[in-house]
Amino acid sequence: MNRTDGAHLSDEQRYALSSRKKEQEWEALCCRCGACCGAFEDPCQHLQKTASGTFICGIYEERFGVQRSVGGREFRCVPIRTILDKYWTHDCLCAYKKQLKNIKEPGCES
Ligand code: SF4
Ligand code: SF4
Repeated sequence: MNRTDGAHLSDEQRYALSSRKKEQEWEALCCRCGACCGAFEDPCQHLQKTASGTFICGIYEERFGVQRSVGGREFRCVPIRTILDKYWTHDCLCAYKKQLKNIKEPGCES
């Protein structure tokens, strides 16, 4: 029988499991609007639009570090957590910013 309560795991395994779950929950918050990757101005060359109109990163696992936009602008791709206090074009769409501000409605106000 499979155990799902985690009682058979060590403290380290339980911590790793809990961290992974929290990270997945955090990642699931993203609405894939693409705004943080320049979708509404000069997009990152790795930004891809899906058939449903959302955006994905073509190099997601290796995304952090120096990248280049379609227009040739060089910039550094960083974890979204580290730029939530910064402004970017259409950042009003960002689900993380909305959560921080406790905003429920979709889209931009301005
Ligand atoms: S590399 Fe970074 S900026 Fe470029 S699409 Fe991926 S996540 Fe966005
Ligand atoms: S702006 Fe926020 S919600 Fe939109 S793609 Fe970037 S991290 Fe996700």
